[in-house]
Amino acid sequence: MANIKEQIDILVKIQKIETETRGIKSMLSDVSKKVETLDVRLKDFEQTIENEESGFNDLKKKYRSYESDTQMNLSQAKKSQEKLRLIKTNKEYQSSLKEIEKLKTNNSQIEDKMLECLDSMDEAEKVIAAKKDEYLQISEQLNNEKKIIDREAEEGKKKLVELNANWKKVSGIVEPELLKKYIIIREQQARGIAIVPAKDAVCRGCNVNLPPQMYNELQRCDSLRLCPNCQRIIYWEKL
Ligand SMILES: [Zn+2]
Repeated sequence: MANIKEQIDILVKIQKIETETRGIKSMLSDVSKKVETLDVRLKDFEQTIENEESGFNDLKKKYRSYESDTQMNLSQAKKSQEKLRLIKTNKEYQSSLKEIEKLKTNNSQIEDKMLECLDSMDEAEKVIAAKKDEYLQISEQLNNEKKIIDREAEEGKKKLVELNANWKKVSGIVEPELLKKYIIIREQQARGIAIVPAKDAVCRGCNVNLPPQMYNELQRCDSLRLCPNCQRIIYWEKL
């Protein structure tokens, strides 16, 4: 095998590239989640405004129906008023008067309700206007956030292309057998870490002490060694 120290150095470089690649990929996936969250927030706000507006329209309809009720009562009362002079008996006359009175009372009750309705409409209009203002502010803020996120994502994607090219370049100069071994170990390891330094007789991958004999041999840098505990490739690193 070629100079093992050199080969180890290359593997360390490869791993560094892969770690950076993983970091960027996870950032990109976070980014799309962040954008989704922002979109949901905006949609929710739009929904709130729509609900308020539909409540306002209901009030408007209610007001119109009150209005037509009062018109009907008025014309009914007018007709009854006109008929009064044709009435012959006192009893009928009294009952007609009562009818007219009832219509008038009814109308004044409806008018109270119309006033209440107008108040509610005023209130609803204020709420809607305030919500729309808030919506504008939020959407502007979210769009700015999105722009920043998009820029980050774009830079991340560019970096990925660079890293990928780098990986190909560097892995081309490592011994194929060694690269194969490295990849197998990497696939078996959590976080994809296949090569770790051993410092002060401790494997930095699993933090377990290495046998002294092994640690001594490791310092000679003359063959490839695996941590007996975590099975990662280990190399000697000066303190
Ligand atoms: Zn270990």
